[in-house]
Amino acid sequence: MKILVLNSGSSSLKFQIFEMKNITVLASGIIEQIGEEQSHCRFKYNAAGNKETIIQKRHAVADHQAAIKTMATLLRDTDVMPDLNHLDGIGHRVVHGGENFHEPIRIDKSVIDGIKKLIPLAPLHNPANLTGIEVAMQLAPDIPQAAIFDTAFHQTIPKYGFLYALPYELYTNHRIRRYGFHGTSHYYVAKLAADFMGKQLENVNLITLHLGNGASAAAIKNGRSIDTSMGLTPLEGLIMGTRCGDLDPAILFYLARETDMDIDDLDTLLNKNSGLKGICGYNDMRAITRRAAEGDKQALLALKMFCFRIKKYIGSYLAVLGGADGIVFTGGIGENAPQVRKMACQGLEQLGIVVDSASNSNPGQGIAAINTPESRIKIMIIPTDEEFEIAVQTAQIIKPGFKSNRQ
Ligand code: ADP
Repeated sequence: MKILVLNSGSSSLKFQIFEMKNITVLASGIIEQIGEEQSHCRFKYNAAGNKETIIQKRHAVADHQAAIKTMATLLRDTDVMPDLNHLDGIGHRVVHGGENFHEPIRIDKSVIDGIKKLIPLAPLHNPANLTGIEVAMQLAPDIPQAAIFDTAFHQTIPKYGFLYALPYELYTNHRIRRYGFHGTSHYYVAKLAADFMGKQLENVNLITLHLGNGASAAAIKNGRSIDTSMGLTPLEGLIMGTRCGDLDPAILFYLARETDMDIDDLDTLLNKNSGLKGICGYNDMRAITRRAAEGDKQALLALKMFCFRIKKYIGSYLAVLGGADGIVFTGGIGENAPQVRKMACQGLEQLGIVVDSASNSNPGQGIAAINTPESRIKIMIIPTDEEFEIAVQTAQIIKPGFKSNRQ
């Protein structure tokens, strides 16, 4: 079964084709700066003799329709896929599923209308996701297509957990509540963590920490999300590359009164110029850990703040869960920054969280446990693979009961 996964952003298109029989990636790529004079396209596939080959091009790609056509041409010219109509299915990442979509769904007109209705909740993301869906439907009209929502996994959060303490009408009239994001990643790593611990997902309590450019934590009880750090939008919660995370909302009133910032300026401030970047000028954790080690005080401060916030979430989620079996680190930072893992867990020994320094520093490739034998809670690094999970969920829609060897 060949599944194409499309992740259509506002100015980019990421794609991967999987052969689900033996779980191989046949090709993957990204087209960036769509709509600009020079779009950048990077395409990777296995040529004859299984030789990994990369094609890079710079040329104008006017819009998403042109981007998907560029992808289709590359797939055809490299003999990966002569025609998109030869696929078995297409899975689309959709950022916001609101309350209507709590599981993956086969796309039809009513689903498209449903995603459109959610545009006010995700004005940057859902329109781009929809464009990807509409173009793919035009080019491959007979191929089953599925929408996989970033919010879906968190739809099990109870009402007392997802509501903000605002007048209730804001929920009923304006849909203001916590939705949470990164759900595909939290679910994927939770399944792998349960498997790694030799348990059923329904029988484990986990704290999953997805730490990338965007970052979020989830409290997973008996396999179901019962709390997560991102809220109505992906701005709340942990400190991120350029986003502030949790904040006293009154800071906004104060800034509006004391400075000449308007709503758009405040939006840019909190989403693009805050977080790690706001504190030390860098949003790449590689640069921050390096500079902190070289004595850059602001970089060290940003690192400490980032880890302190994670620690606070670990503590509160232990309380919310009534104890956890495991903690999972994932995402670019979670998988690759030992110092962050160490600092986030430091001082939590009384709570049963004890990191083993040697395995934390050298965890090796793939899934690894980094706790000491006496640590009551298993601490794991689990590389995430949202595209693969989207492919699996798409395959399950096409063929109910489909199971992949890799979960
Ligand atoms: P996205 O949220 O965009 O998917 P990723 O999950 O790929 O992002 O994470 C990107 C972040 O991972 C980068 O900002 C970088 O700070 C961090 N990162 C990647 N490799 C390392 C590394 N070796 N050490 C520390 N941080 C890393």
